[in-house]
Amino acid sequence: MARLSPVLKPATPVTVSHARGLDVYGDDGRRYLDFTAGIGVTSTGHCHPAVVSAIAGQAERLLHGQYVTVRHRPLLDLCDRLGQVLPAELQSLFFANSGSEAVEAALRLARQATGRPNVIVFHGGFHGRTVGAASMTTSSPRFRTGYAPLMAGVHIAPFPSAYRYGWSEDEATRFALQELDFLLATVTAPEDTAALVVEPVLGEGGFVPAPAAFAQGLRERADHHGFCLVMDEVQTGFGRTGRFWGHQHLGVEPDILVAAKGLTSGLPLSVMAASEKLMSMAPAGSQGGTYGGNAVACAAALATLEVIAEEELVANAAAQGLRLAQGLRRIAEDHAVPGDVRGLGLMLGWEFSEPDGRPDAARALRVQQEAIAAGLLLQIGGPMRNVLRLLPALVVDEAQVDRAVGALSRAVASAAG
Ligand code: PMP
Repeated sequence: MARLSPVLKPATPVTVSHARGLDVYGDDGRRYLDFTAGIGVTSTGHCHPAVVSAIAGQAERLLHGQYVTVRHRPLLDLCDRLGQVLPAELQSLFFANSGSEAVEAALRLARQATGRPNVIVFHGGFHGRTVGAASMTTSSPRFRTGYAPLMAGVHIAPFPSAYRYGWSEDEATRFALQELDFLLATVTAPEDTAALVVEPVLGEGGFVPAPAAFAQGLRERADHHGFCLVMDEVQTGFGRTGRFWGHQHLGVEPDILVAAKGLTSGLPLSVMAASEKLMSMAPAGSQGGTYGGNAVACAAALATLEVIAEEELVANAAAQGLRLAQGLRRIAEDHAVPGDVRGLGLMLGWEFSEPDGRPDAARALRVQQEAIAAGLLLQIGGPMRNVLRLLPALVVDEAQVDRAVGALSRAVASAAG
Protein backbone atom coordinates (compact mmCIF):
# COMPACT_ATOMS: atom_id res chain seq x y z
CA MET A 1 0.00 0.00 0.00
CA ALA A 2 1.42 3.37 -0.97
CA ARG A 3 1.74 6.02 1.70
CA LEU A 4 3.22 9.48 2.18
CA SER A 5 7.00 9.48 2.12
CA PRO A 6 8.80 10.08 5.43
CA VAL A 7 10.82 12.83 3.70
CA LEU A 8 7.77 14.94 4.50
CA LYS A 9 7.91 15.69 8.22
CA PRO A 10 4.48 16.58 9.64
CA ALA A 11 4.46 19.63 11.91
CA THR A 12 1.18 18.57 13.59
CA PRO A 13 -0.65 15.24 13.91
CA VAL A 14 -3.89 16.61 12.40
CA THR A 15 -5.65 15.19 9.33
CA VAL A 16 -8.12 17.77 8.07
CA SER A 17 -11.58 17.00 6.83
CA HIS A 18 -12.76 20.53 6.06
CA ALA A 19 -12.20 24.11 7.16
CA ARG A 20 -13.94 27.47 7.16
CA GLY A 21 -12.50 30.80 8.23
CA LEU A 22 -10.05 30.01 11.02
CA ASP A 23 -11.82 26.80 11.99
CA VAL A 24 -10.19 23.61 10.86
CA TYR A 25 -12.00 20.32 11.45
CA GLY A 26 -9.98 17.16 11.92
CA ASP A 27 -11.35 13.95 10.45
CA ASP A 28 -11.71 12.80 14.07
CA GLY A 29 -14.37 15.51 14.45
CA ARG A 30 -12.15 17.85 16.51
CA ARG A 31 -12.20 21.58 15.81
CA TYR A 32 -8.97 23.61 15.80
CA LEU A 33 -8.38 27.33 15.71
CA ASP A 34 -5.89 27.75 12.89
CA PHE A 35 -3.01 30.11 13.66
CA THR A 36 -0.88 28.75 10.80
CA ALA A 37 -3.02 29.73 7.77
CA GLY A 38 -1.26 26.94 5.88
CA ILE A 39 2.07 28.77 6.41
CA GLY A 40 0.62 32.17 5.70
CA VAL A 41 -1.44 31.23 2.64
CA THR A 42 -5.13 31.34 3.52
CA SER A 43 -5.17 35.12 3.90
CA THR A 44 -8.95 35.46 3.62
CA GLY A 45 -9.52 32.43 5.86
CA HIS A 46 -10.28 28.91 4.73
CA CYS A 47 -12.82 28.67 1.92
CA HIS A 48 -13.95 32.30 1.89
CA PRO A 49 -17.29 32.19 -0.02
CA ALA A 50 -16.20 34.88 -2.52
CA VAL A 51 -12.99 33.01 -3.31
CA VAL A 52 -14.74 29.63 -3.56
CA SER A 53 -17.37 31.07 -5.87
CA ALA A 54 -14.73 32.71 -8.12
CA ILE A 55 -12.89 29.39 -8.34
CA ALA A 56 -16.09 27.48 -9.13
CA GLY A 57 -17.13 30.03 -11.76
CA GLN A 58 -13.71 29.99 -13.43
CA ALA A 59 -13.58 26.20 -13.36
CA GLU A 60 -16.74 26.16 -15.50
CA ARG A 61 -15.17 28.47 -18.11
CA LEU A 62 -11.48 27.57 -18.36
CA LEU A 63 -9.19 25.49 -16.15
CA HIS A 64 -5.92 25.77 -18.00
CA GLY A 65 -5.10 28.61 -20.35
CA GLN A 66 -1.33 27.94 -20.77
CA TYR A 67 0.17 31.41 -20.85
CA VAL A 68 2.95 30.65 -23.32
CA THR A 69 0.43 29.38 -25.84
CA VAL A 70 -2.47 31.83 -25.29
CA ARG A 71 -3.50 34.66 -22.98
CA HIS A 72 -6.58 34.39 -20.80
CA ARG A 73 -8.85 36.92 -19.13
CA PRO A 74 -8.12 36.16 -15.43
CA LEU A 75 -4.38 36.52 -16.09
CA LEU A 76 -4.77 39.89 -17.83
CA ASP A 77 -7.23 41.13 -15.21
CA LEU A 78 -4.84 40.05 -12.48
CA CYS A 79 -2.04 42.08 -14.11
CA ASP A 80 -4.29 45.14 -13.97
CA ARG A 81 -5.32 44.47 -10.39
CA LEU A 82 -1.78 43.82 -9.14
CA GLY A 83 -0.62 46.94 -10.97
CA GLN A 84 -2.83 48.97 -8.63
CA VAL A 85 -1.17 47.61 -5.49
CA LEU A 86 2.44 47.24 -6.65
CA PRO A 87 5.00 50.06 -6.57
CA ALA A 88 4.57 52.32 -9.62
CA GLU A 89 7.99 51.25 -10.95
CA LEU A 90 7.27 47.51 -10.78
CA GLN A 91 4.62 47.04 -13.44
CA SER A 92 6.08 44.19 -15.47
CA LEU A 93 4.89 40.83 -14.14
CA PHE A 94 5.87 37.21 -14.51
CA PHE A 95 3.82 34.41 -12.95
CA ALA A 96 4.85 30.99 -11.68
CA ASN A 97 3.39 28.48 -9.23
CA SER A 98 5.40 28.57 -6.02
CA GLY A 99 7.54 30.92 -4.00
CA SER A 100 10.66 28.91 -4.89
CA GLU A 101 9.99 29.30 -8.60
CA ALA A 102 9.47 33.04 -8.27
CA VAL A 103 12.79 33.29 -6.39
CA GLU A 104 14.48 31.30 -9.17
CA ALA A 105 12.91 33.65 -11.70
CA ALA A 106 14.29 36.67 -9.83
CA LEU A 107 17.74 35.11 -9.66
CA ARG A 108 17.66 34.43 -13.39
CA LEU A 109 16.47 37.95 -14.19
CA ALA A 110 19.07 39.60 -11.93
CA ARG A 111 21.89 37.61 -13.54
CA GLN A 112 20.61 38.23 -17.05
CA ALA A 113 20.04 41.95 -16.50
CA THR A 114 23.40 42.65 -14.84
CA GLY A 115 25.52 40.06 -16.62
CA ARG A 116 27.03 39.29 -13.20
CA PRO A 117 27.18 35.86 -11.56
CA ASN A 118 26.97 36.24 -7.77
CA VAL A 119 24.19 36.93 -5.29
CA ILE A 120 24.33 37.99 -1.67
CA VAL A 121 21.79 36.62 0.78
CA PHE A 122 21.30 37.30 4.49
CA HIS A 123 21.89 34.79 7.24
CA GLY A 124 18.72 33.09 8.43
CA GLY A 125 16.86 33.70 5.18
CA PHE A 126 14.56 31.13 3.61
CA HIS A 127 13.93 31.32 -0.12
CA GLY A 128 12.75 27.85 -1.10
CA ARG A 129 13.73 24.28 -1.86
CA THR A 130 14.67 24.18 -5.56
CA VAL A 131 18.44 24.23 -6.18
CA GLY A 132 18.89 27.97 -6.67
CA ALA A 133 16.48 28.87 -3.87
CA ALA A 134 17.93 26.23 -1.51
CA SER A 135 21.43 27.57 -2.23
CA MET A 136 20.18 30.96 -1.09
CA THR A 137 18.53 29.51 2.02
CA THR A 138 20.47 29.74 5.27
CA SER A 139 17.84 29.16 7.94
CA SER A 140 18.61 25.47 8.56
CA PRO A 141 20.97 22.81 7.26
CA ARG A 142 18.02 20.50 6.64
CA PHE A 143 17.20 22.38 3.44
CA ARG A 144 20.71 21.55 2.14
CA THR A 145 21.81 18.31 3.79
CA GLY A 146 22.75 15.68 1.25
CA TYR A 147 21.91 18.02 -1.61
CA ALA A 148 25.40 19.33 -2.34
CA PRO A 149 26.88 20.62 -4.49
CA LEU A 150 24.41 23.46 -4.52
CA MET A 151 24.54 26.45 -6.85
CA ALA A 152 27.81 28.35 -6.81
CA GLY A 153 28.02 32.12 -6.49
CA VAL A 154 25.94 32.60 -3.34
CA HIS A 155 27.51 34.64 -0.53
CA ILE A 156 26.06 35.07 2.92
CA ALA A 157 26.07 38.35 4.84
CA PRO A 158 24.75 38.82 8.39
CA PHE A 159 21.12 39.75 8.95
CA PRO A 160 20.74 42.25 11.80
CA SER A 161 19.12 39.88 14.30
CA ALA A 162 19.34 42.18 17.31
CA TYR A 163 17.91 39.72 19.85
CA ARG A 164 20.28 36.93 18.83
CA TYR A 165 23.30 39.17 19.10
CA GLY A 166 22.06 40.76 22.32
CA TRP A 167 22.50 44.18 20.70
CA SER A 168 20.29 47.11 19.91
CA GLU A 169 18.80 47.27 16.41
CA ASP A 170 21.16 50.12 15.57
CA GLU A 171 24.21 48.14 16.65
CA ALA A 172 23.05 45.05 14.77
CA THR A 173 22.35 47.14 11.64
CA ARG A 174 25.74 48.85 11.77
CA PHE A 175 27.45 45.47 12.13
CA ALA A 176 25.45 43.87 9.30
CA LEU A 177 26.16 46.71 6.85
CA GLN A 178 29.86 46.78 7.77
CA GLU A 179 30.10 43.05 7.16
CA LEU A 180 28.29 43.44 3.84
CA ASP A 181 30.83 46.04 2.76
CA PHE A 182 33.63 43.77 3.94
CA LEU A 183 32.18 40.88 1.92
CA LEU A 184 32.11 43.15 -1.15
CA ALA A 185 35.70 44.20 -0.48
CA THR A 186 37.06 40.70 0.14
CA VAL A 187 34.95 37.99 -1.49
CA THR A 188 32.46 39.06 -4.14
CA ALA A 189 33.42 42.29 -5.88
CA PRO A 190 30.57 44.62 -6.79
CA GLU A 191 31.19 44.01 -10.51
CA ASP A 192 30.65 40.27 -9.89
CA THR A 193 27.49 40.75 -7.82
CA ALA A 194 24.06 40.67 -9.46
CA ALA A 195 21.71 40.95 -6.52
CA LEU A 196 21.04 41.34 -2.83
CA VAL A 197 18.14 39.07 -1.87
CA VAL A 198 16.37 39.74 1.40
CA GLU A 199 13.10 39.12 3.23
CA PRO A 200 11.50 42.21 4.82
CA VAL A 201 10.83 39.95 7.83
CA LEU A 202 12.81 36.72 8.17
CA GLY A 203 10.08 34.08 8.07
CA GLU A 204 11.33 30.53 8.47
CA GLY A 205 14.40 32.16 10.06
CA GLY A 206 12.46 33.20 13.17
CA PHE A 207 10.22 36.16 12.32
CA VAL A 208 12.82 38.88 12.63
CA PRO A 209 11.81 42.19 11.00
CA ALA A 210 14.55 43.93 9.01
CA PRO A 211 15.31 47.35 10.52
CA ALA A 212 14.49 50.23 8.15
CA ALA A 213 18.05 51.57 8.37
CA PHE A 214 19.36 48.17 7.23
CA ALA A 215 17.04 48.10 4.21
CA GLN A 216 18.02 51.66 3.39
CA GLY A 217 21.68 50.63 3.56
CA LEU A 218 20.96 47.82 1.11
CA ARG A 219 19.12 50.19 -1.23
CA GLU A 220 22.05 52.65 -1.18
CA ARG A 221 24.56 49.90 -1.97
CA ALA A 222 22.36 48.48 -4.73
CA ASP A 223 22.08 51.93 -6.31
CA HIS A 224 25.77 52.66 -5.93
CA HIS A 225 27.07 49.35 -7.29
CA GLY A 226 24.28 48.49 -9.74
CA PHE A 227 22.95 45.41 -7.93
CA CYS A 228 19.31 44.41 -8.12
CA LEU A 229 17.68 44.65 -4.71
CA VAL A 230 15.35 41.65 -4.57
CA MET A 231 12.74 41.56 -1.85
CA ASP A 232 11.34 38.14 -1.15
CA GLU A 233 7.80 38.99 -0.09
CA VAL A 234 6.56 35.44 -0.48
CA GLN A 235 5.48 35.42 3.15
CA THR A 236 5.23 39.16 3.92
CA GLY A 237 3.07 40.19 0.96
CA PHE A 238 -0.66 40.89 0.67
CA GLY A 239 -1.28 42.46 4.06
CA ARG A 240 0.37 39.89 6.30
CA THR A 241 2.53 42.48 8.12
CA GLY A 242 -0.21 45.09 8.62
CA ARG A 243 0.84 46.97 5.47
CA PHE A 244 0.10 45.72 1.99
CA TRP A 245 3.80 44.92 1.40
CA GLY A 246 6.45 44.20 3.98
CA HIS A 247 8.84 46.65 2.30
CA GLN A 248 6.41 49.50 3.06
CA HIS A 249 7.65 49.36 6.65
CA LEU A 250 11.18 49.99 5.43
CA GLY A 251 10.95 53.17 3.37
CA VAL A 252 12.63 51.57 0.33
CA GLU A 253 11.40 49.87 -2.80
CA PRO A 254 12.97 46.80 -4.38
CA ASP A 255 14.05 46.41 -8.02
CA ILE A 256 12.50 42.96 -8.09
CA LEU A 257 9.69 41.81 -5.83
CA VAL A 258 8.59 38.20 -5.51
CA ALA A 259 5.37 37.19 -3.80
CA ALA A 260 3.12 34.16 -3.51
CA LYS A 261 1.38 32.59 -0.49
CA GLY A 262 -1.34 35.10 0.55
CA LEU A 263 -2.17 36.02 -3.05
CA THR A 264 -4.77 33.34 -3.77
CA SER A 265 -6.05 32.12 -0.38
CA GLY A 266 -4.80 28.66 -1.28
CA LEU A 267 -4.15 27.86 -4.94
CA PRO A 268 -0.59 27.70 -6.31
CA LEU A 269 0.43 31.03 -7.85
CA SER A 270 3.46 33.26 -7.48
CA VAL A 271 4.50 36.49 -9.11
CA MET A 272 7.72 38.33 -9.87
CA ALA A 273 7.40 42.08 -10.45
CA ALA A 274 10.07 44.40 -11.85
CA SER A 275 10.30 47.43 -14.09
CA GLU A 276 9.66 47.04 -17.81
CA LYS A 277 13.24 48.22 -18.35
CA LEU A 278 14.74 45.50 -16.17
CA MET A 279 12.49 42.76 -17.53
CA SER A 280 13.34 43.66 -21.11
CA MET A 281 17.04 43.06 -20.38
CA ALA A 282 16.25 39.32 -20.18
CA PRO A 283 15.92 37.38 -23.45
CA ALA A 284 12.26 36.87 -24.42
CA GLY A 285 11.26 33.27 -23.80
CA SER A 286 13.95 32.72 -21.18
CA GLN A 287 11.27 32.29 -18.52
CA GLY A 288 8.01 30.38 -18.76
CA GLY A 289 6.39 27.17 -17.54
CA THR A 290 3.47 24.85 -18.14
CA TYR A 291 1.23 25.85 -15.26
CA GLY A 292 2.33 29.41 -14.40
CA GLY A 293 -0.52 31.90 -14.19
CA ASN A 294 -3.13 29.14 -14.08
CA ALA A 295 -6.60 30.46 -14.88
CA VAL A 296 -8.30 29.15 -11.72
CA ALA A 297 -5.43 30.37 -9.53
CA CYS A 298 -5.67 33.82 -11.16
CA ALA A 299 -9.43 33.91 -10.51
CA ALA A 300 -8.76 33.00 -6.88
CA ALA A 301 -6.18 35.80 -6.69
CA LEU A 302 -8.59 38.37 -8.12
CA ALA A 303 -11.24 37.37 -5.57
CA THR A 304 -8.69 37.35 -2.73
CA LEU A 305 -7.47 40.85 -3.60
CA GLU A 306 -11.09 42.01 -3.71
CA VAL A 307 -11.80 40.55 -0.26
CA ILE A 308 -8.59 42.03 1.18
CA ALA A 309 -9.72 45.48 -0.02
CA GLU A 310 -13.42 45.17 0.78
CA GLU A 311 -13.03 43.71 4.25
CA GLU A 312 -10.09 46.04 5.02
CA LEU A 313 -7.93 43.11 5.97
CA VAL A 314 -4.65 45.02 5.94
CA ALA A 315 -5.91 47.32 8.69
CA ASN A 316 -7.35 44.31 10.49
CA ALA A 317 -3.96 42.56 10.34
CA ALA A 318 -2.32 45.61 11.91
CA ALA A 319 -4.94 45.93 14.69
CA GLN A 320 -5.24 42.24 15.53
CA GLY A 321 -1.46 41.87 15.32
CA LEU A 322 -1.07 44.51 18.02
CA ARG A 323 -3.67 42.83 20.20
CA LEU A 324 -2.03 39.44 19.75
CA ALA A 325 1.47 40.78 20.47
CA GLN A 326 0.18 42.45 23.63
CA GLY A 327 -1.45 39.19 24.69
CA LEU A 328 1.78 37.24 24.13
CA ARG A 329 3.85 39.79 26.05
CA ARG A 330 1.36 39.58 28.92
CA ILE A 331 1.68 35.80 29.07
CA ALA A 332 5.48 36.04 28.97
CA GLU A 333 5.39 38.50 31.86
CA ASP A 334 2.79 36.63 33.95
CA HIS A 335 4.69 33.36 33.64
CA ALA A 336 8.16 34.95 33.71
CA VAL A 337 9.13 33.30 30.42
CA PRO A 338 12.47 34.59 29.10
CA GLY A 339 12.48 35.39 25.40
CA ASP A 340 11.35 37.82 22.76
CA VAL A 341 7.97 38.58 21.20
CA ARG A 342 8.41 40.31 17.86
CA GLY A 343 7.11 40.70 14.34
CA LEU A 344 4.85 42.89 12.28
CA GLY A 345 1.09 42.68 11.89
CA LEU A 346 -0.01 39.05 11.87
CA MET A 347 3.49 37.70 11.36
CA LEU A 348 4.42 37.30 15.00
CA GLY A 349 7.09 35.16 16.57
CA TRP A 350 7.66 34.25 20.18
CA GLU A 351 11.24 33.18 20.79
CA PHE A 352 11.87 31.15 23.94
CA SER A 353 15.18 31.41 25.76
CA GLU A 354 16.75 29.95 28.87
CA PRO A 355 17.35 32.47 31.66
CA ASP A 356 20.97 32.80 30.45
CA GLY A 357 19.80 33.64 26.91
CA ARG A 358 20.45 30.27 25.26
CA PRO A 359 17.67 29.08 22.91
CA ASP A 360 14.98 26.99 24.62
CA ALA A 361 13.67 24.74 21.87
CA ALA A 362 12.28 22.23 24.39
CA ARG A 363 9.89 24.82 25.84
CA ALA A 364 8.78 25.95 22.37
CA LEU A 365 7.94 22.34 21.48
CA ARG A 366 6.09 21.69 24.75
CA VAL A 367 4.04 24.87 24.36
CA GLN A 368 3.22 24.00 20.74
CA GLN A 369 2.14 20.48 21.71
CA GLU A 370 0.02 21.69 24.63
CA ALA A 371 -1.58 24.34 22.40
CA ILE A 372 -2.44 21.80 19.71
CA ALA A 373 -3.86 19.44 22.33
CA ALA A 374 -6.02 22.37 23.47
CA GLY A 375 -7.21 23.02 19.90
CA LEU A 376 -4.87 25.80 18.73
CA LEU A 377 -2.83 25.02 15.62
CA LEU A 378 0.63 26.58 15.67
CA GLN A 379 3.98 26.06 14.01
CA ILE A 380 7.54 26.34 15.20
CA GLY A 381 10.33 28.06 13.30
CA GLY A 382 13.68 29.73 13.72
CA PRO A 383 17.14 28.28 13.14
CA MET A 384 17.18 26.92 16.70
CA ARG A 385 13.54 25.72 16.50
CA ASN A 386 12.68 27.85 19.52
CA VAL A 387 10.26 30.33 17.93
CA LEU A 388 6.50 29.86 17.99
CA ARG A 389 5.09 31.26 14.77
CA LEU A 390 1.70 32.95 14.89
CA LEU A 391 0.27 33.41 11.42
CA PRO A 392 -3.53 33.51 11.57
CA ALA A 393 -5.60 34.40 8.51
CA LEU A 394 -6.00 38.16 8.05
CA VAL A 395 -9.73 37.81 8.80
CA VAL A 396 -9.00 36.86 12.43
CA ASP A 397 -11.21 38.77 14.88
CA GLU A 398 -10.75 39.97 18.46
CA ALA A 399 -12.58 37.02 19.96
CA GLN A 400 -10.34 34.57 18.07
CA VAL A 401 -7.20 36.44 19.11
CA ASP A 402 -8.39 36.33 22.72
CA ARG A 403 -9.17 32.61 22.46
CA ALA A 404 -5.69 31.96 21.10
CA VAL A 405 -4.08 34.03 23.85
CA GLY A 406 -6.12 32.15 26.48
CA ALA A 407 -5.12 28.78 25.01
CA LEU A 408 -1.48 29.83 24.86
CA SER A 409 -1.51 31.06 28.42
CA ARG A 410 -2.77 27.66 29.58
CA ALA A 411 -0.28 25.90 27.27
CA VAL A 412 2.61 27.89 28.75
CA ALA A 413 1.43 27.04 32.27
CA SER A 414 1.12 23.30 31.53
CA ALA A 415 4.42 23.27 29.62
CA ALA A 416 6.11 24.66 32.73
CA GLY A 417 4.47 22.12 35.06
N1 PMP B 1 10.43 32.63 0.26
C1 PMP B 1 9.88 32.79 1.48
C2 PMP B 1 10.15 34.05 2.23
C3 PMP B 1 9.08 31.78 2.04
O1 PMP B 1 8.56 31.95 3.26
C4 PMP B 1 8.83 30.61 1.28
C5 PMP B 1 7.96 29.50 1.81
N2 PMP B 1 7.88 29.34 3.16
C6 PMP B 1 9.42 30.50 0.01
C7 PMP B 1 10.21 31.53 -0.47
C8 PMP B 1 9.22 29.27 -0.83
O2 PMP B 1 7.91 29.18 -1.26
P1 PMP B 1 7.31 27.78 -1.78
O3 PMP B 1 7.26 26.87 -0.61
O4 PMP B 1 5.96 28.17 -2.31
O5 PMP B 1 8.22 27.30 -2.84
